[in-house]
Amino acid sequence: METVGTIFNIQRYSIHDGPGIRTLVFFKGCPLRCLWCSNPESQNTYPEILFSKVKCIGCGKCSEVCSEDAIIKSADKRIDRDKCNRCLKCIETCYAEALEVAGKKMTVEEVIKEVEKDRPFYEKSGGGITVSGGEPLMQPKFLIELLKECKNRNINTAIETCGYVSWKTFNEVLEYIDLVLFDLKHMDSNSHEEFTGKNNNIIIENIKKISKSKKLMIIRFPLIPGYNDSNKNIKQTGEFVKMLEGVNEINIIPFHRLGESKYEKLDMEWTMHDVKPPEIDRLEEIKKILESYGLKVKIGG
Ligand code: SF4
Ligand code: SF4
Repeated sequence: METVGTIFNIQRYSIHDGPGIRTLVFFKGCPLRCLWCSNPESQNTYPEILFSKVKCIGCGKCSEVCSEDAIIKSADKRIDRDKCNRCLKCIETCYAEALEVAGKKMTVEEVIKEVEKDRPFYEKSGGGITVSGGEPLMQPKFLIELLKECKNRNINTAIETCGYVSWKTFNEVLEYIDLVLFDLKHMDSNSHEEFTGKNNNIIIENIKKISKSKKLMIIRFPLIPGYNDSNKNIKQTGEFVKMLEGVNEINIIPFHRLGESKYEKLDMEWTMHDVKPPEIDRLEEIKKILESYGLKVKIGG
């Protein structure tokens, strides 16, 4: 049987997340639950329904087609997520487009068909595919088949990863990857667990192992004011990255609130109301601290 993956977005013509012009393929499923996550629809491995209350016209069509009695008739919520079997019939029937799904099953061939549309841009810009998420390594079999096919077609490959996976899985995938964009969220393991749901032990070990493998790697530091922007954490991050073999670049990814509206649509709680994106002056200050460790530092991905 053909291997399928669950993908929630394919974004073409991106100038972020790797060199040149890239096609970003977003995988469903993530082992972490970062409080600031801008893609909350990526976290669960299964397709997820988003409900937009501003678009809903209250026609009741969704409840007519639902065999599970999973439609809630309230102004704020529409789906009883415990009862829903994700048949998606309500989405097909909602002509107001108040209901939408994040995540669909795709074959390697279907993803490649999308990726190939950007080939002329790759050739001119040195770009390629970047797999992101969620966490692409949560679907290793599909990921390996997809990346193998990209390599067969001479397409540059990059992965954006939170790194919370077994080394065995990582190692199997690495040979098909040209560039690893590795997120490092906090050097203190307890704080890492408090803010993401998991400690950083396996993540730190994986970074060290990749660095020894000499694979091209860039560290990505999501800068979240009040969570990981203390000078102590910045300095510990600089010291750690400095001692890695063959790694000399950090990208600072400033906190933003672009994902906030999706929390309401998923009936999830957004807890970052009081957090503001970092000031430019503070960003420059942090950049200088990291540069003092001899690292190339870029603001943005
Ligand atoms: S079908 Fe769509 S517009 Fe109609 S009540 Fe259901 S969610 Fe609202
Ligand atoms: S996806 Fe199916 S089961 Fe779930 S609410 Fe919609 S119609 Fe009901």
